[in-house]
Amino acid sequence: MPIRSNRLKAEQYEENFRELRPAFDNKEAALVEANRCLFCYDAPCTKSCPTGIDVPKFIKQITTDNIKGSAHTIFEANIFGAGCSRVCPVEKLCEGSCVFNLLHEPPIPIAKLQRYSTEKAIHENWQLFARKDATGKRVAVVGAGPAGLSCAHRLAREGVEVDIYEKENRGGGLMTYGIAAYKVTPQFCEDEVSYICSIGGIRIRYNQELGVTCSLADLQTQYDAVFLGMGVGLARQLEIPGEEATGVVDAIEFIYQLRAKTYNQLPVGDQVIVIGMGMTAIDAATQAKRLGAREVTIVYRRTEAEKPCTDYELDIARLDGCGLVWLAAPKEVVVEGEQVKGLICTKMDLGAADATGRRSPVDTGETFFLEADMIIKAAGQMPFAALMQKELLANASGKLIIHENGQTNYPGVFAGGDCVNGGKEVVDAVQAGKLAAVGIIEYLSGK
Ligand code: SF4
Repeated sequence: MPIRSNRLKAEQYEENFRELRPAFDNKEAALVEANRCLFCYDAPCTKSCPTGIDVPKFIKQITTDNIKGSAHTIFEANIFGAGCSRVCPVEKLCEGSCVFNLLHEPPIPIAKLQRYSTEKAIHENWQLFARKDATGKRVAVVGAGPAGLSCAHRLAREGVEVDIYEKENRGGGLMTYGIAAYKVTPQFCEDEVSYICSIGGIRIRYNQELGVTCSLADLQTQYDAVFLGMGVGLARQLEIPGEEATGVVDAIEFIYQLRAKTYNQLPVGDQVIVIGMGMTAIDAATQAKRLGAREVTIVYRRTEAEKPCTDYELDIARLDGCGLVWLAAPKEVVVEGEQVKGLICTKMDLGAADATGRRSPVDTGETFFLEADMIIKAAGQMPFAALMQKELLANASGKLIIHENGQTNYPGVFAGGDCVNGGKEVVDAVQAGKLAAVGIIEYLSGK
């Protein structure tokens, strides 16, 4: 059967793409959960949050119906608190650290409670932070994703004027462009970006790309400081024969397409192979299954113990009926005419551990064939190596090198998020943007 759209009935699409983690549907339900919290003195949940949200404090505020105060506590640490409540891998962060796990009881649903407060703040446009008097300083931020907006918001609070240069025509970065539709909707992403910018002093200039429509030198001339938060670049290529065939697509592109089209318009194969085992791979696989693919197989070159996605994500894929092939690496896309017919994989084994303790896959020389009419590549993204070279930015394999205060090799040019770490969670990018803003404020004040 060829790749085609409109595989299911309208009501089936609605059912398949219903929100995965619905919000509390009434105040009482939120209060019951909030009142279970033990308000631990050394709160392991807070310690495991990369942005350090004071979890017991915001939950306590919910119990006293101080929702504004609760939203303030969350946004003080993480201005993307609403988005993070939907996309954070909480099983390995706050909820995974909740003491209730030790008691073999369900952890406090921290993300759901966080969503309860922050979404109310966004819907009602509560302005929880006052801007300080204008400093007369201007900062250019490259990228309107979680790192860029987090940095911009913190700077705006300090009375700095910020211009964000965004290469796409919408803000939100990976939140908007690379996360499955049953986790965040395009409308939610748009509302969150608008809310963050509503503090004032932040202007987003869309369709502006560093190295194409503007150079770093331009920005250095026009502004008092620059923050680079442009994320990572293009999808990593497999570099195997047949990769250019019709039916081989990039996972981020496939996920984003669903934002631009309705469910029944997005073509999906009948037998789909997804290459990779990160969050994007799982999102692409489950999206393909929910769009009506008969068979979805995820291929990964290591074992389950080394997988980059969480157990929770993998369970979603399993529950959706996706097949899993461990210890297999793509070797060649088999093409007939111009259309994909399948994938030849190499069987792998695990060799010695690298410096991080992670064992590397080794080619056994044996191969096998998987039939497919669509292959989705989710083997990670590559840093903007060419851009780094063009702008003479110090980097390690395309990842920007920064000093303690977030500054790059150019004085006054700071960086953070995926373009530095190579691609981590949204919450890590938010924290990096926040910390860089502190460095920028110090730089602007001449410290
Ligand atoms: Fe509450 Fe669990 Fe955090 Fe303790 S660890 S403060 S119970 S959410």
